[in-house]
Amino acid sequence: MRIEKITMFHVQLPMKFNFKTAKGSLNLRDTIIIKVESPNGLSGFGEVVAFTTPFYTSETFADAWKILEETYLPEILQKDFSHPFEIHKFFRKPLPMALAGLENALLDLYFKEKNENLITGLFQEKLADKIPRGAVLGQMSDAQTIKEIDQLINSGVKRIKLKISPQIGTDLIKKLVKRYPQITFALDANRSFQLTDWPVIKALDELGLACIEEPFAIKDLSELKLLTELSVNFSTPLCFDESVQDLESLKILTELPFQTMLNVKIGRLGGLYQTQKAIEFCRQHQIGFWIGSMVESGISKILHVQLAALSGNAMAGDLSDSKHYFDQDLIQPEIAFPNGWMTVPTGAGIGLSVNEVALDRYTVNKLSLTSLK
Ligand SMILES: [Mg+2]
Repeated sequence: MRIEKITMFHVQLPMKFNFKTAKGSLNLRDTIIIKVESPNGLSGFGEVVAFTTPFYTSETFADAWKILEETYLPEILQKDFSHPFEIHKFFRKPLPMALAGLENALLDLYFKEKNENLITGLFQEKLADKIPRGAVLGQMSDAQTIKEIDQLINSGVKRIKLKISPQIGTDLIKKLVKRYPQITFALDANRSFQLTDWPVIKALDELGLACIEEPFAIKDLSELKLLTELSVNFSTPLCFDESVQDLESLKILTELPFQTMLNVKIGRLGGLYQTQKAIEFCRQHQIGFWIGSMVESGISKILHVQLAALSGNAMAGDLSDSKHYFDQDLIQPEIAFPNGWMTVPTGAGIGLSVNEVALDRYTVNKLSLTSLK
């Protein structure tokens, strides 16, 4: 592949609401968009989804910008490679989200040059024509939660993920499951409970939840083996998100005394090279997989929409309309789930166009490097 120019855009997308989890809140999304350009005039786009603070994983926006500016971008312009996946051999101990953004941009360009869809091309699999929307609600008052759920049901949503923490407790969850039997509920605790809180989690088993995501603040997934005797007959799958950042930790899930699931996010896993391997591992080892989301622009999210159209997804992904989060997204057409379903785009590269007018409008800083070759 020949890359002539790479540009990094620091974008600030104003959000329509303050998104609160057990670990932080967000009302302005700072994100890095990477554009790679080839000598034949084609370009590819990728997004670095790190947050400005390390509330999700330790990698921050500033860390990612620095390593891209100082290492990844200058080196990539010097290297010879024929497939974007080769970049994973170039950098030792990479920052996953920074490298994923660059890899995604190179993949977009690579598959545009072949005039082929990126996800279809990588997985060699036909995508489902449509995918269902799965909504995520941040922490809010009980009355507001009920209002939001009513609105989601009216818009065709059948799967809702709620945030929980020891502070907000589980009473509301129990009421909501009874009140809305037509909805599949999942929970995400963002690692806010201690292992000693096991009875609280155990009491949720009777609710028939699709999964409980990241219940515990643990250093190592193997600590969950301590619950082996206590968890006999516990049938709700435990889902892992920020605890699984590589394939080594994914393998530990096969040793746990629980049914397990993986929340798939390309950035956290360090790009589509590892994401593809992770999905293949899940398929081989009866680990449910489904597609998450990072409060990100459509440039990253549209790839997740297409991953959600692969066969064997355990449940609807955390994927909502662009307009749910932002006044204006960076892709066209924007992500939309009329009546709860989205038609999956299968155009070349990431599947649709980047809205470069919108990209310019929300860019607060940018940096370009050109090849000297
Ligand atoms: Mg999560």
